[in-house]
Amino acid sequence: MAAVATSEARRAELVSLYNAVSSCTACPLAETRTQVVFGAGNANAELMFVGEAPGFHEDQQGIPFVGAAGKLLESLLADIGLSREDVFIGNVLKCRPPGNRDPQADEIEACQNHLFRQIELIQPRIVATLGNFATKLLSGSPAGITRVHGTQQSVQLGNSQVLLYPIYHPAAALYTRAMLGVLEQDFARLPQLLAGEPAPGPEEAAPAALAATPAATEYEAQLGLF
Ligand code: URA
Repeated sequence: MAAVATSEARRAELVSLYNAVSSCTACPLAETRTQVVFGAGNANAELMFVGEAPGFHEDQQGIPFVGAAGKLLESLLADIGLSREDVFIGNVLKCRPPGNRDPQADEIEACQNHLFRQIELIQPRIVATLGNFATKLLSGSPAGITRVHGTQQSVQLGNSQVLLYPIYHPAAALYTRAMLGVLEQDFARLPQLLAGEPAPGPEEAAPAALAATPAATEYEAQLGLF
């Protein structure tokens, strides 16, 4: 499908996508959800975040990242002078998996076109993936977040060329407090990327390899990820 030229047309297309997705029954999560969590924020955002899937509070309120991980995301955004209104926030899955279990391959397959269309309509310059599921889906690579966080790469998503910037999921810092510093470092590079400046890689920004920090390893072990 084609990209949309004007911001009015883009908003109108997003509203019609919202209406279509709101009644989606493409996977069994339609039977257990309270409502679809489409995504929220600025339809003209230069920066889009893609998380994993709605949790309990998001399923109740219909808005992404309104629980504890969302509060941390807001605080990390505030640290770099941004608010939710400046960005668009979405998820790989638009419906809550029961008990907040991991998204399943068939659910991602059924849902991914909604996300690709959102990206095509919003046309962000930067897509920051939060955690493994969004990172692997949008990079098309099995490389896990521990390896790739904090490193940008240019990717073609549908008709859009975007800068993909993987970051740990904020929930990582709720499980393992020491992960907060890693998240803060990766967020701190976003203003440079938004300004279009060649940002230093993580080695230059943080000489100690982040992937090897005890916090990262502990997080991996706890969540059974990667
Ligand atoms: N975690 C996510 O990945 N997405 C949300 O919307 C909330 C928590």
